[in-house]
Amino acid sequence: MKKRYLLAPGPTPVPPEVLLKMAEPIIHHRTPEFSQIFAEAKEWLKDVFQTREDVLILASSGTGAMEGAVSNLFNEGDKVIVVNGGKFGERWGKISEAFGLDVKWLNVEWGKAVEVEAVKELLDREGDVKGVLVQASETSTTVAHPVKELAELTRDRDCILVVDGITGVGVFPIPMDEWGIDVLVAGSQKAFMLPPGLAFIALSKKAWAFAETSRLPRFYFDLKKERKSLEKHTTAYTPAVSLIIGLREVLRMMRETGLERIYERNARLARATREAMKALGLRLLAPESPSNAATGVWLPDGIDGGAFTKALRDEFGVTVAGGQDQLKGKIFRISHMGYIDTFDIIVAISAVEMGLKKFGYPVSLGAGVARAQEILLEGYGVRV
Ligand SMILES: *Cc1c(COP(=O)(O)O)cnc(C)c1O
Repeated sequence: MKKRYLLAPGPTPVPPEVLLKMAEPIIHHRTPEFSQIFAEAKEWLKDVFQTREDVLILASSGTGAMEGAVSNLFNEGDKVIVVNGGKFGERWGKISEAFGLDVKWLNVEWGKAVEVEAVKELLDREGDVKGVLVQASETSTTVAHPVKELAELTRDRDCILVVDGITGVGVFPIPMDEWGIDVLVAGSQKAFMLPPGLAFIALSKKAWAFAETSRLPRFYFDLKKERKSLEKHTTAYTPAVSLIIGLREVLRMMRETGLERIYERNARLARATREAMKALGLRLLAPESPSNAATGVWLPDGIDGGAFTKALRDEFGVTVAGGQDQLKGKIFRISHMGYIDTFDIIVAISAVEMGLKKFGYPVSLGAGVARAQEILLEGYGVRV
């Protein structure tokens, strides 16, 4: 038997009370009982999205809502700018190309945030750009992109800002209405503390107007159809009943805690993790514009990332994520969103220290943990 700790940026741990709710016998979805649960979930989702618009609930992983955004809002040949600074930015581009859009790739060095000025220049140069597609938090590189500033660029143009907030919504503030974000996407298995299987998407009035003229092929991810069903407290096809019951429960918990406190906690856990890694002499992947969802860290020369994360998982029972593509074997990533708190972070940092020691890196055991403890104590009102 091995005790397991899950600290990868998705799927993230699910609170036991939520697991228990989802283990209850299945109920029928056309019943007053389910309608009531659905009605609460859809209202409470709006608070987390910080919007007055509908938040649609889809039975798919996050990518389904990304595909829905593209296939419901654009037309063949439409020019879109895709901020490509990691795996998920690349995914926006691949989906857009699959639907025949004219993708203007804005490549960004992995580990860096996009420069607002670069987006502005491309918008001005290209002229008739219909959409800017970006991540609030690019999970593969642990970078936060400047979404608020990008929304200012698209606001007065015939162009919508489409934001993948899958590791942003519920992690740090992305007030959709206040900032003027046109499309915001989230998923169940990251900050929402649920198993994979649900995606969420909200559209501004401007985006719904785009949906009126979009003629791309679609069937399952038909957002206008979903909006009609939502009015009747259901989804267009059989809802993922158990996951929606779980959703209602996590939203209840999030309301009880309050969004501000959730943001604060994530920021503190993120800062503690970053400072701990620096105290160990390690370099951060995204030092300038880090996301509070997860922290990416360069491994010291000579340590293979694959072997390192495998040892942490199989020997210590601690799952952190490695790098993808060009970062494969070179970095590891620790998540601090969702159902993660002070002592999960201590476990993760301690496992990194012990792993470094195991691989022969000259680490002073406890140095990272001590630095993190100083910061984490602030969460309990203690200043060190
Ligand atoms: C996890 C994630 C996704 C969605 O991936 P799925 O596997 O389809 O759920 C998309 N964007 C970002 C930024 C993510 O972190």
